[in-house]
Amino acid sequence: MQDFLSPISTNSSQNGYVGRFAPSPTGPLHFGSLLAALASYLDARANNGRWILRMEDIDQPRCVDGADQLIMQALLAHGLQWDGDVWYQSARLPVYQAVIQRLTAQQQVYGCVCTRKQIRAQGGVYPGTCRTAGHSTAGHAVRLQCNSIVTSFSDAILGQICVTEPHALEDTLLQRSDGIYSYNLVVVVDDIAQGVTHIVRGSDLLDTTAAHLTLYKILDAKAPAYAHIPVAATAKGRKLSKQNHARALDLATPEDNLLRALAFLGLSSVKGDTVSDILDAATANWQYGNVPKMQEVIVDEAESTYHTGRNN
Ligand code: GLU
Repeated sequence: MQDFLSPISTNSSQNGYVGRFAPSPTGPLHFGSLLAALASYLDARANNGRWILRMEDIDQPRCVDGADQLIMQALLAHGLQWDGDVWYQSARLPVYQAVIQRLTAQQQVYGCVCTRKQIRAQGGVYPGTCRTAGHSTAGHAVRLQCNSIVTSFSDAILGQICVTEPHALEDTLLQRSDGIYSYNLVVVVDDIAQGVTHIVRGSDLLDTTAAHLTLYKILDAKAPAYAHIPVAATAKGRKLSKQNHARALDLATPEDNLLRALAFLGLSSVKGDTVSDILDAATANWQYGNVPKMQEVIVDEAESTYHTGRNN
């Protein structure tokens, strides 16, 4: 394995557990992203592990200036102190390029010239059109040749998962034709490089896990353990997100925000008057078995300004 994929030794905890929160800095922390932060934090702390923070700012056009600072401020207001330095994916472009070069040399990737419109016209799922066309990877979109994609895995909360979503099983896009590296590539490269052993995140990313596990296999790296928590939605299929006008967390009420998030995660029994009391009690009681085994849980419409028409 080459250096750029060797886990950084300072990241390991004594028992080897490394967890992470990896937000895209596209807006302030909202209830939905607090859930992912809190669940991954509690899992790490309950296992005496490290909990690191990585800003997934790879898709620069979608990132919002200053959102990283707002996210960090909100995490700290909720007592969620990360370990070590914050990583920014925008500072790691040469590493992603080196990984693409390595995969190119191994003939595991190919250049793809298909436009979204063409793929839509062919039914919407990429059928591998350019696999044997011999296009260069330079200046074109780059796809992973997924000959034996990993489609089933064991999730610590949801149990055995079999990914059947057709998009999740197509040849994964690693780099877009405009040069932007895909989430699927950089998340795996960074989780390997940071020695992440446990990934606790929202179920909206469940289907991407097939592509991630395939990439771990091709890169000859040990895959982490996965636990997917339900996502908060204001209506069926309407996940709380920036696009969906999720309301920014009120930093004046961190205790209340934490207690609501804990109730969502199956820990409504946790009580406490201060942030640190609440986090201590939650860490002591954290168990995968308490988390609802569901991909989505409907929350109060007030979490989104979409419903109230108010802007904050
Ligand atoms: N950056 C991704 C997001 O904000 C999360 C990545 C992950 O947890 O794998 O949705």
